[in-house]
Amino acid sequence: MRSIRELYRVGNGPSSSHTMGPKKAAEEFKKKFSDADKYVITLFGSLALTGKGHLTDVAIKDALKEKETEIIFDTKTKCDYHPNTLTLEAIKDGEPAGFWKVYSVGGGEIEIDGEDTFKEIKVVYERKTYTDIALYCSENNMSLADYVYSREDKNFKTFLKNIWNTMEKSIERGLSTEGILPGNIGLERYAKRILEKSNESKDDAVKKTAELTAYAYAVTEENASGGVIVTAPTCGSSGVLPAVLHYAKEINGYTDDQIVDALAVAGLIGNIIKTNASLSGAECGCQAEIGSACSMAAAAYSYLRGLDFKIIEASSEIAMEHFLGLTCDPVHGYVQVPCIERNGVAANRAVDSSELAYIQNTGTLIPFDTVVETMYETGKDLKSHYRETSKGGLAKKYCKNKFYNPDME
Ligand code: SF4
Repeated sequence: MRSIRELYRVGNGPSSSHTMGPKKAAEEFKKKFSDADKYVITLFGSLALTGKGHLTDVAIKDALKEKETEIIFDTKTKCDYHPNTLTLEAIKDGEPAGFWKVYSVGGGEIEIDGEDTFKEIKVVYERKTYTDIALYCSENNMSLADYVYSREDKNFKTFLKNIWNTMEKSIERGLSTEGILPGNIGLERYAKRILEKSNESKDDAVKKTAELTAYAYAVTEENASGGVIVTAPTCGSSGVLPAVLHYAKEINGYTDDQIVDALAVAGLIGNIIKTNASLSGAECGCQAEIGSACSMAAAAYSYLRGLDFKIIEASSEIAMEHFLGLTCDPVHGYVQVPCIERNGVAANRAVDSSELAYIQNTGTLIPFDTVVETMYETGKDLKSHYRETSKGGLAKKYCKNKFYNPDME
């Protein structure tokens, strides 16, 4: 498995695969063909179908600024390798001067067709399943966080501290901002109001739900506005883990240092899913984004509570199991509906999964590695309509009833 540094990325929303990945491709392409007069970028598959809502064109133009740029949305050509495909052409003196085919494979990562530049795999973790890692840790009297620190570089803790700091800042900004989110849905920002409701309530259950939800909304509303967030593991699911960790700090009193260790554990869980399955909604549906974020947060919360390997595994497994089959159907291609609410639900579910695993105290019948494998197979079986194309599910129904858009047929 690769470094957790490649999982937690700081960047602007609203989408790691549709904004960060294509932006990175454009930046790298511009570096390679810097003397071009013009760039022609063609988006295919999910990038073409939901690129407007995800601001893919805005991110690419931003990367290529000062040069003439044409962006083509090709919704007809099928993608042969990955649903998030784009081609980049450089033109100089009216002649083709360079060409790349790039895949935005999730979490802001890209692969260039036929080149090894970004495929170079630096193995940081030789074990790649939870079962192997937990066995190794218990035999060597190590915690999961110890295992991460023993494999990553000596500055890794500082990296995680910065990640936590960025997460907290996104919560802070989200909780102090009101107004309407960008795009034509007209969705209001709710985070601040939800937290006010929590402060007014005397009911502990309402307070818990409202707090976790407000923190998750705060980050994902920032993401939907193009603000700076951390992929955890993606932009669309960026609210779940910060919400649970902030809740653990505010309500349970865990220190920043303890939370940094929990971030390491969450990163390990995300890395296992990324290595053995997928974190991409375009590849495996929302179960790969929100399900993964929920598993990461549940593991982090159980780790903070000092629970053992079996209970941490059960927490992550429960968190993923009940998101199996979850489709990706963002209305109008914006990472807003159902995404923001889904982050709130998943933050609550992560804490509940940890509680449930603790109450049951029997470990898990289905190993975490098996639920990850199941998620991947289920994702591959999902019709393409349900994998970030905005052609199925809520995206289709809502368009038909409210703002029907013939381009989406
Ligand atoms: S529905 Fe889920 S996977 Fe799809 S864009 Fe929204 S958060 Fe991401």
